[in-house]
Amino acid sequence: RVAVVGAGVSGLTATKCCLDEGLEPVCFEQSRDIGGLWRYTEHVEAGRPSLYPSVISNTSKEMSAFSDFPYPEDFPVFLPNARLLDYLRRYAERFGLLKHIRFGTTVVSVRKGPEFATTGQWSVVTETDGKQTLHYFDAVMVCSGNFSEPSLPLHCFPGIEAFQGQYFHSRQYKHPDVFQGKRVLVIGMGNSGVDIAVEASRVAAKVTISTGRGAWVLSRVFDHGYPWDMVFNTRLMSLIRNILPGPLSRGLINYRVNQWFNHENYGLQPEKSCLVREPVLNDDLPSYILTGRITIKPGVKEFKDNSVVFHNCPEEEPIDIVVFCTGYNFSFPFLEEEVVKVENKHASLYKYVFPTHLQKPTLAVLGLIKPLGGIMPVTEMQARWVTRVFKGLCQLPPQSVMEKEVNEKKKNQVQRFGLSFDEVLKTDCLVYMDKLASFIGAKPSVLGLLCSDPRLALTIFFGPCTPYQYRLGGPGHWEGARQAILTQWDRTLKPTRTRVPAGSSSPWLSLLTVVGFLL
Ligand code: NAP
Repeated sequence: RVAVVGAGVSGLTATKCCLDEGLEPVCFEQSRDIGGLWRYTEHVEAGRPSLYPSVISNTSKEMSAFSDFPYPEDFPVFLPNARLLDYLRRYAERFGLLKHIRFGTTVVSVRKGPEFATTGQWSVVTETDGKQTLHYFDAVMVCSGNFSEPSLPLHCFPGIEAFQGQYFHSRQYKHPDVFQGKRVLVIGMGNSGVDIAVEASRVAAKVTISTGRGAWVLSRVFDHGYPWDMVFNTRLMSLIRNILPGPLSRGLINYRVNQWFNHENYGLQPEKSCLVREPVLNDDLPSYILTGRITIKPGVKEFKDNSVVFHNCPEEEPIDIVVFCTGYNFSFPFLEEEVVKVENKHASLYKYVFPTHLQKPTLAVLGLIKPLGGIMPVTEMQARWVTRVFKGLCQLPPQSVMEKEVNEKKKNQVQRFGLSFDEVLKTDCLVYMDKLASFIGAKPSVLGLLCSDPRLALTIFFGPCTPYQYRLGGPGHWEGARQAILTQWDRTLKPTRTRVPAGSSSPWLSLLTVVGFLL
């Protein structure tokens, strides 16, 4: 029996993977519905993530699907939050997940069972309508998410206590009407900061984004109008990124991200371009900077009564509203620190999943990773691996080996929340997914396929690394995987080619790509 904590993206796929492996999942969800982050509510609810209604996924539907459940072809390529929730509901229904979820039930504590060293069991206390219940489980999958605890580092902003205007964290933001006619300062250049600044600038008198580090801004609409991740996350591109020496690879990325517009000219150039942080996906920002709707400024030095002073800028800027888009912290209040310790926004977990020091590998954390790509296939792959480990079909390496790897990652972590370039490459989702897939025997062999099914092999190597690739063989093999891969571009083009009928993808396209590449 496996306890699954949370019924968001990770919890749903964890429950499904348990069922696939013949395990008995019980999923505890504190709210009354599934969907986690992706279930929009008009009011901010304590302990739950909070979306603004305009959120659209940053990764395309083909790259964000669960590997045996493609999105319907008529869904848009990048999904508004309601469509994404719709997809999750269909997934839960298709695989009969709802009957395994106990809604309105909070996990209060997860402790090692009395015979943990031999059984690996956990005692789990849950609370429903004020009544606590003790359960014993053979394993636990922690899928409680990491976007519920706002990080509001007011101590980093001298003078904020004297500031007469209004301020709030991006978690509180819902609609732009609060900015009507106001002078707005957005602090933080993450995806929330830029989304909110763009929305605010349509009604505000003035919008300024303050960024300490700058960021690479990408458009969802990439080369030739294709979705960015379907161009970026291919096996060919990943190979090039990973075999080139660091400086060359960095140069290549620098060149590619500056093709749309020169980040330096727009005041966005990341502080240290050798540190790669999560890119910001926004199609409007450059044109809004060009048209003067948004101004980019450095970090905040201090606040005054009705204004702000930026580093290296002598003038004060009058401000009415400040939005702190300063991200999130995460913690696991139901776990003892001895089981999973979180330090400086980093939990020491082997492959971002397993604590390294438990006598039995019967507790796993899912979704605690920021891949350069869709989170859904990644967390699903984690769940497939974890369930095989729980069943004893996959072994973890010795503790010392896991600790060494975790410590190296930690060393590689840059001050604050930045990741070093190498770290990001290691969490390049393709490399990471291949690694986990190889643990369970589901990694596709391009060379093997080249002899038996060359069309498929070429599509896999040159085309986007869609998650269906990990269902071609091994445990969890899905009959529909080959067809899903060969029709991935059809589903991508269907919702946009609405005036001319979408043609089916031609095998010659792959061949032409090969010839083009060789040339
Ligand atoms: P975030 O990505 O963690 O960014 C927070 C930013 O706040 C930092 O990058 C930093 O920006 C600034 N910051 C943090 N601490 C600070 C401090 N002490 N002093 C000054 N500045 C500080 O947070 P987020 O934008 O809320 O995004 C959270 C997650 O949700 C991300 O993974 C994001 O991709 C995701 N998201 C997705 C969508 C979407 O899919 N459409 C939309 C929104 C968010 P500077 O370095 O620039 O100062």
